[in-house]
Amino acid sequence: MSSDTAISTVIIPLHIKKENDGFILLIVDDDSFPDSDFFLEIAEQTGPVIHTLMSYCQSIDEEVKYERLYQVTSKFHSTMNIEDVLREVIKTLTDLYPELDFYLLLMQDNLQIEDLPIKELIYDRYEKDAVTTAFLTGQIQFEDISGDTASLYAPLVGRQATYGVLQVLKPNTLFFSENDIEFISILAKTAGNALENARLYQQSQRYITDLQLINQSSQALNSKRTLSATFTYLEDLMISKFNAEEVGFILYDERNNQQDFREYKVLKESTSFFSTKEGKWFLSFLNSKVKQNIHTIFIGDFNSTHSDHDIPYQSVMAVPMIHDEKVIGFVAVLHPNEYFFSFETYKLLQSLVQHSALTVINYRLKEELEQLVRTDYLTKLYSRNYLDKMMNKHLKVGKHGTFILMDIDNFKQINDQYGHDTGDEIICQVAEIIRKNIRANDIAARWGGEELAIYLPNTTMKEAQHVAERLVHTVSEKTYPKVTISCGVSYWDDKIHGETKSLFLRADKALYLAKEKGKNRVVKENEIVL
Ligand code: GH3
Ligand code: MG
Ligand code: MG
Repeated sequence: MSSDTAISTVIIPLHIKKENDGFILLIVDDDSFPDSDFFLEIAEQTGPVIHTLMSYCQSIDEEVKYERLYQVTSKFHSTMNIEDVLREVIKTLTDLYPELDFYLLLMQDNLQIEDLPIKELIYDRYEKDAVTTAFLTGQIQFEDISGDTASLYAPLVGRQATYGVLQVLKPNTLFFSENDIEFISILAKTAGNALENARLYQQSQRYITDLQLINQSSQALNSKRTLSATFTYLEDLMISKFNAEEVGFILYDERNNQQDFREYKVLKESTSFFSTKEGKWFLSFLNSKVKQNIHTIFIGDFNSTHSDHDIPYQSVMAVPMIHDEKVIGFVAVLHPNEYFFSFETYKLLQSLVQHSALTVINYRLKEELEQLVRTDYLTKLYSRNYLDKMMNKHLKVGKHGTFILMDIDNFKQINDQYGHDTGDEIICQVAEIIRKNIRANDIAARWGGEELAIYLPNTTMKEAQHVAERLVHTVSEKTYPKVTISCGVSYWDDKIHGETKSLFLRADKALYLAKEKGKNRVVKENEIVL
């Protein structure tokens, strides 16, 4: 083009997809300016060629992307690991869009994976910013951050919930095609579903482990023979499974049902903190909650909410043992770190404590039953059966002992004169006199009817005779209506080898003799003339 030649600028509109969606700029020498048909020809020929080329490039691009999407989806199906899913999302995006930045804004706190661009999703339900809108509506959103950067937010949506938002940061000069947006949106949805599956899977795994633990522990709890073994087992479990630092067990006095005046007992199986001053204060704090019927105690920052008392534990879980709508005790579990226990752990603790409540109740019922079998309902002395058992035991391990059998004199007459109820009451009076006149080791029992018996382990005949005489005397003095008793006493040692039955028979014979001799007296077995 020579410098003295005039030039003209020609703009030729191009029809690629629709009318005038591009143009060709031509600078032409006026000397060789072609006629207008030429330009029309260029426009007509170039438009379709560019269109075909663009479509071709786009389809290749799309093929690459969808091929990638297919790979990602199959990978998601093969993993139940949340970290793998997130890593794959970021890898796919950075491979396909190396010039862009990506962030995963996730709801799940404490999900920190090194080398993954994860930020915590903080949203305000009442703010109408792009992140919140994407998260709440599940729709893709756009936002200009500054003059030259823009953000796209694609929600990670599953079938049940939205799990976070994918943030794509791009320079404003870069143009996202509809296909790009759709691709990112599909990838985010696929990731949302994969996250959901992985989460449900992890949850179900946790439930399975929890159920196994509950099953195992309830079997173990049921097999424990004593309350102490039950609580020791629970304590070990809480330390090993929950990483608890302190475990306390509190049982209410079962005889006192009035909630306000309940006295509680700290079981010796509790860890040492509960016997310190702070520990005791803490238990009274729990007790006050029970009184107010507050049964859910799950605290992650104890000292900031209860600053008046400084206990070295921030995480506090406490669960009441409830039976028949009545609180029978408490289990408290502590850790020094803030927010140490998860809510799942708390729920698990609740199940375990509920099982242990059953064990406590069963144990108490068993004790009550044993007590019932052991004692006579009228006099509350031991039953004959129990006396029998204890004598057999002592005859095996002891060195010597005596047996006193006693019978109320002329009791038929008392019944006839005063009635059966008074008769009963007199038997109780005699029982009370016996209780007051024997040592703690002696075993007094109702032998049957108005006959009572005492076994005195490690006692000589002389001592037993003394006891029997004191009883005969006291009964004649202290009963009202007045009765007297007769006693027969037998003895055993390594020379007179003892057998329970023989001791009974010998005492019975002596008693018979006491009756013969005029009642209201003691007869020793060696007074029997054979
Ligand atoms: P003895 O001095 O020879 O013992 O004369 P006794 O009248 O006591 O004669 P025996 O021991 O044979 O009779 C006991 C009576 O005591 C028979 C029964 O009516 C009465 N009895 C037995 N068990 C009970 C009881 O649990 N309550 C009352 N109220 N009476 C009883
Ligand atoms: Mg009798
Ligand atoms: Mg009698």
